[in-house]
Amino acid sequence: MVAALVPKDNSPNCCSSVIRRLALSTKMKTALTQLTYELLSAEDENKMLRQILSSSTDPILITSRDVTIFYVNPAWEKLTGYSFNEVKGKSPNILKSGKTPRSIYRKMWQALSQNQSFTTEEVIDKRKDGSLYQIHSSIFPVLKENNVAYYVQIHHDITKRKHIDEMKAQFLSVISHELKTPITVLKLFTQARIARAQKTGSVFLTSEELKGFDRELTRLTNLINDMLDSSRIETGRMHLNIEYVNLNELIESTLENARELSKEHRIVFKDFQECMIFVDRERLKQVFLNLLTNAIKYSPQGTEIVIRTKKNKKNITVTVEDFGIGIHKNERKAIFDKFYQVEKHATTGFGLGLYISSEIIKQHRGKMWVKSAVGKGSTFFFTLPLQVSN
Ligand code: ADP
Repeated sequence: MVAALVPKDNSPNCCSSVIRRLALSTKMKTALTQLTYELLSAEDENKMLRQILSSSTDPILITSRDVTIFYVNPAWEKLTGYSFNEVKGKSPNILKSGKTPRSIYRKMWQALSQNQSFTTEEVIDKRKDGSLYQIHSSIFPVLKENNVAYYVQIHHDITKRKHIDEMKAQFLSVISHELKTPITVLKLFTQARIARAQKTGSVFLTSEELKGFDRELTRLTNLINDMLDSSRIETGRMHLNIEYVNLNELIESTLENARELSKEHRIVFKDFQECMIFVDRERLKQVFLNLLTNAIKYSPQGTEIVIRTKKNKKNITVTVEDFGIGIHKNERKAIFDKFYQVEKHATTGFGLGLYISSEIIKQHRGKMWVKSAVGKGSTFFFTLPLQVSN
């Protein structure tokens, strides 16, 4: 972009020695030498500018006044996936994702037409591979004799920050909504109980009332535990207490808890293989109980829930199969995301269970996935390595 004004391999000293050797008057030689120095220092300045632009870690794009791309620096190439040769002479519109509010472009052109700079955090662009990114973008015109010569855009990738902001907002909205339900129920219980005590003078609670209190308090405790776990995962503070554990014993003891949750399902442990394994006992129980609770929640009473384990040289795979409602193909990945619930049959959960479970399995260097058929049932799988490695 910064055109060479003199041959690159010339230095001022080299040129003046050539000029000295020419058959010119002294005055002419002095004038030529002076001109050479001026031209060469302009070239030095250009070189320096070029270096600054190309070493900037912030992506920079320069267009000519007719808004065709004239220069991009390596940071811009890295951000967008396009090379300079691919975009040279093209319009920056190739980056448009259709997600930036139109009003932003309007405001930008308003500012630029008055030779003013414009800054925004609302631009969402599209990379060469189709993925989206959000930028803090500053654009300003460079004037030459009062006319626009170039538009310079300096970008700063804020995709991660925006994502975290969205997650925080979503977190707060889900949590406040989830907290409200049990608290409202507890408040109603308490008010009804006070009214009854005033009327009858009896301060005793019926066993139904106690069960109601217990159910809502359990719901609150679960929510708070899930929130704490999810925050531990995000801040890298979920530490595992690894022990050498008999996997079948661990599964059996969790099955007892699950059977208490539902007497109406037949929970059976089939096809198991003996396995001693290095895991965090409590965390693994938590994963297992979550899969079993889901299998109970999302399958009809009277159906079976089947647990299996299968070992190979490197891993053990545990499966939990149910014969319930199943999960649509489009949702099978998303259910492992934080707060994701399949809208139609959201029951009493918060959409955190599978997120936390899959993170716990990842921390054990394993992985979790699901196979499912709508209306037929789901099988959740997780693998764990048999050897601990650092
Ligand atoms: P929740 O607490 O809402 O159950 P999870 O993270 O455990 O949250 O599960 C996320 C979503 O995945 C659930 O809302 C449900 O729609 C779906 N899901 C999980 N397990 C099953 C299953 N065994 N059968 C059908 N759908 C399931």
